[in-house]
Amino acid sequence: MDPVPLHGTRTAAELADSVGATVSPEGMGGQRALELFDTILSRACISVDHPRNLSFIPAAPTPAAVLFDLALGASSVYGGSWLEGAGAVYAENQALRWLADLAGFPPAAGGVFVQGGTLGNLSALVTARATAAARLAAGGQARPDRWRVVCGAEAHSSVAQAAAVMDVDVIVVPPDAGGRLTGDALARVLAEAHGVCAVVATAGTTQFGAIDDLPGIARVARDRDIWMHVDGAYGLAALAAPSAHGLFDGISAADSFIVDPHKWLFAPFDACALIYREPALAKAAHTQRAGYLEVLATPEGWNPTDYAVHLSRRARGLPFWFSLAAHGTRAYGQAIETTLAVAAAAAEAIRGHGQLELVREPSLSVVVFRRLGWQARDYHAWSERLLKENIAFVPPTVHDGETVARFAIVSPRTTPDDIAAILATMT
Ligand SMILES: *Cc1c(COP(=O)(O)O)cnc(C)c1O
Repeated sequence: MDPVPLHGTRTAAELADSVGATVSPEGMGGQRALELFDTILSRACISVDHPRNLSFIPAAPTPAAVLFDLALGASSVYGGSWLEGAGAVYAENQALRWLADLAGFPPAAGGVFVQGGTLGNLSALVTARATAAARLAAGGQARPDRWRVVCGAEAHSSVAQAAAVMDVDVIVVPPDAGGRLTGDALARVLAEAHGVCAVVATAGTTQFGAIDDLPGIARVARDRDIWMHVDGAYGLAALAAPSAHGLFDGISAADSFIVDPHKWLFAPFDACALIYREPALAKAAHTQRAGYLEVLATPEGWNPTDYAVHLSRRARGLPFWFSLAAHGTRAYGQAIETTLAVAAAAAEAIRGHGQLELVREPSLSVVVFRRLGWQARDYHAWSERLLKENIAFVPPTVHDGETVARFAIVSPRTTPDDIAAILATMT
């Protein structure tokens, strides 16, 4: 659809009124179910790829990726093992290889596309802990009473969730003035901490797009033999943009990283690329064993199943691969440069506006700002009006207890005019 309709949300009561019950013993027939989806249900879903959807981290899949997702869904391809899905896995691995090369990872690096960044972070941290435990066991040392994971104050909420699932403690390191985790602050915390199996650096925080001190963190982690995982679910896409590549210096020393093609790499939901420097360590941590799986455990071939917390999987990296193969990597770099330029223009417009103020200087494509004089309820009323009037979807966020406005720009179709039109409503 061009233009994409923004649509809006509805309450459960409204949907119950207009749709009612759909699942019955007799079935309603495909025509009727499709009609309900087309005319009511799909219109009660906000389009994530609308150029004025600047919420959370939206998405902007290419038509090529979306069409290939349709083809993949209709193809009955199984993506869990090399035996069953060799062709699909081969192609997925080439897309992973492009990302590994952008990060400066060695030829032996590799990984898997998982459902999302949350599962990617969990899988990487499980590998980190298993690796630390194996190292202690090899040295005849006992495991610590509690394992610990260290991260910055603005790390994504999924790091805490992963730690809860693993029943490990999280040590949050005090940030620098830009909200970043630095090597020096990490070293101070590690001097007192025991049982640390991993440090999570964030390359592009969700709230601000801030990038932790990757070189400093890498140095400290290497000195202490601690696994360094880089959460770049949103931000690491910008490795593909020549103007931003240098912001991620230090990533090549990480043990693992994630980046979500469904965020800023123009693929549909749901795909997170999880890449390990030494995939054998992940395989040791994650491979499921059973008689019925033994036939898959051959030394030849690559079983995506073995590198994360999952077994059956769709070849969810293929829509991203197809679009990347079709358009070429240069187009990806250019599309990301476009969004970075629009974010810079948005920041400039805010700086030049008498009633608006940047909360922080943006580093990637997230712009957080306040409207002088507004309270939380003003932001909420403004945001609700924009959605209701089909102008934009820009929900406010909360920083340090203050409600503020936030743009996350990932679509190359978002223009400075879109930004100007939204800012003009903040009177
Ligand atoms: C979005 C995000 C995640 C979680 O990714 P999902 O795909 O939503 O599970 C993790 N880390 C960061 C920095 C993110 O922005």
